[in-house]
Amino acid sequence: MPRDLPARRAVALVLTALLALPTPALAWGRNGHRASARLAESRLTPEARAAARALLDEGESLADASTWADEHSREIPGSGAWHYVNVPIDAPRYDDRHCRDNCVVSRLAEFRRILADPTAPRERRRMALRYVVHLVQDLHQPLHVGDRRDRGGNATQVSLFRDDRTNLHQVWDSGLLRNGYRNERAVADALFDLAREPEARDWTGGAAEDWADESLAAARRAYREPGSNRPIQSGARLGREYQDANLPVVVERLTKAGLRLSEVLNADLAAAGRAKAPARPPARVPAQAPR
Ligand SMILES: [Zn+2]
Repeated sequence: MPRDLPARRAVALVLTALLALPTPALAWGRNGHRASARLAESRLTPEARAAARALLDEGESLADASTWADEHSREIPGSGAWHYVNVPIDAPRYDDRHCRDNCVVSRLAEFRRILADPTAPRERRRMALRYVVHLVQDLHQPLHVGDRRDRGGNATQVSLFRDDRTNLHQVWDSGLLRNGYRNERAVADALFDLAREPEARDWTGGAAEDWADESLAAARRAYREPGSNRPIQSGARLGREYQDANLPVVVERLTKAGLRLSEVLNADLAAAGRAKAPARPPARVPAQAPR
């Protein structure tokens, strides 16, 4: 249909332009982020669920919100550093000096403050919610914390099965998951199953710094060959042994992220709700309170 041609040509041009853009680094890939957010959403209190729905766009689920920060990172200059912290893998633990006030730990704290503040503009709280979801998850990706002077594995070129154009960071973002599960639904099933295990009861609580320490410990293992314990070097060919040793770690990290995210949102969105309730005059406070 000739009349359609200009429109089609425009669509084709836009698609070509989009394809030409480098893909933003999606920590955990889309399936990992979305599945973990679905687990979190299933554990929200009715109050937090309603508050999240009121903040997000019409029809936007927590899973949709979970990838927003990666999809829009280009539009927010400097925001790339908010998704990770480089902690040397031989450091005993995460320390604020690794963060220098501009990393996933400090940004998560900042976005949580905005989310819990009902006086903050709605637009800001909506963005804060999207970041809180995403950053809790990124903080659980071991190579978003542990670093061996190779940008969290980005500079360590490896192959995983037949994919010989990847690197260790991408293996952890999405390679292991892609080889382990067909689709987002299958990842979500694995997370929901693990969250029902008795051991998962011990996984809630803790602070962002604790979650960073866990990721650091997992990163030390990620940088080693499972059998021999030798450090993985550029050019390493990772296969079945690496996949089988580490996919369970990925599933556990995403499950923990989902469970903790639900706690974070239940707390922060409830705090905002309470603060919004009309303040009652304090009872039995003397007119001249002693100082
Ligand atoms: Zn990210």
